[in-house]
Amino acid sequence: MNIYPYDAPIMNTKADSNTTSANSISHRMNIEYAKANIPVDLPHSERLVVEENIKQLLKNNNAVLVAHYYVDPFIQDLALATGGCVGDSLEMARFGQAHSAQTLVVAGVRFMGESAKILSMEKTVLMPDLEAECSLDLGCPIDEFSAFCDAHPERTVVVYANTSAAVKARADWVVTSSVGIDIIRHLHAKGEKIIWGPDRHLGKYIARETGADMLLWQGSCLVHNEFKATELLQLKEQHPNAKVLVHPESPDSVVALADVVGSTSKLLTSTYEMDADTFIVATDLGILHEMQKRSPTKRFLAAPTAGESASCKSCAFCPWMAMNGLKGIEQCLTDYSGEVLMSAELAADAIKPLQRMLDFAESQKLRVEASGDIVKDRALFANVGAA
Ligand code: SF4
Repeated sequence: MNIYPYDAPIMNTKADSNTTSANSISHRMNIEYAKANIPVDLPHSERLVVEENIKQLLKNNNAVLVAHYYVDPFIQDLALATGGCVGDSLEMARFGQAHSAQTLVVAGVRFMGESAKILSMEKTVLMPDLEAECSLDLGCPIDEFSAFCDAHPERTVVVYANTSAAVKARADWVVTSSVGIDIIRHLHAKGEKIIWGPDRHLGKYIARETGADMLLWQGSCLVHNEFKATELLQLKEQHPNAKVLVHPESPDSVVALADVVGSTSKLLTSTYEMDADTFIVATDLGILHEMQKRSPTKRFLAAPTAGESASCKSCAFCPWMAMNGLKGIEQCLTDYSGEVLMSAELAADAIKPLQRMLDFAESQKLRVEASGDIVKDRALFANVGAA
């Protein structure tokens, strides 16, 4: 079991004036360490056996494997080889909803399994490890967030996809990183003031882009919060022709150095649509597997985090994504452990703000169906990318 320290989220509870961010810090929540039980790499011969077993189990159980870009490359390849999909959180949920399989195996973190369940209550949703968390989800517990919302009843509550089903159920809107800007702009044009949670960097970025009045919950992503602007600038100087790709969950000093800011899907698309042959990537390095597959002759450099010293907390790898292993997938398909359970009442509440986003995307003529075909889906989700 590995222990990962990270910046404790700061909870805002005092009602404040019409500022664009909350300055009132009441206390830090008591979540400063996260546990991650990361499976050991399997020897080559054993891996092949386990992969074959998983293929058979998927067939026997009428199941499909749905994986996030940040999980082990072997799992990503297995998902594609068995007719599943690799995508970001929304793509995963939509793919699972549209697929005819009765059982969805979600290789990702818990909120992704929950989103899949919300959209597919009639299906069985399994996860290799139910304790795979997300610092944004962990840092936004429902009771505290609900109290924060209650203190600002005049504001529309907009939450990022990286939240629990309970937090989604408390919100008026759920958004993903790309469609978030369009939705906030739409709400701002109607004169609505916003509560945004949980990622403070993404919230700040969207507030700056839209001019909206946004009160920000002060959560952050363990991975993206680590990227460092000074070191990134030095790397840029060493590679002056490289394009810098940054996920907006990163600090704004890092976002300011980007050539492209966007969701995981948008960053991936940029690598094969842009002319550049070198890219500096500031997001979880799990995505490099797909980037390199799509552009084998191009060069991808990891954006600097806190460095090689002991102060590096994540080194651009999400420890919870790393909890997904082949053995865990085999296990959950064998004994149906790791099932995501949810009450019908909670799902009915949580789907409303999620559906509102999907309807908005539809009204903007943004297509949101996923097929599992990486190239096709990149185009489909160009404007609706999630974390
Ligand atoms: S990379 Fe960050 S946002 Fe994504 S699951 Fe990990 S902690 Fe959460």
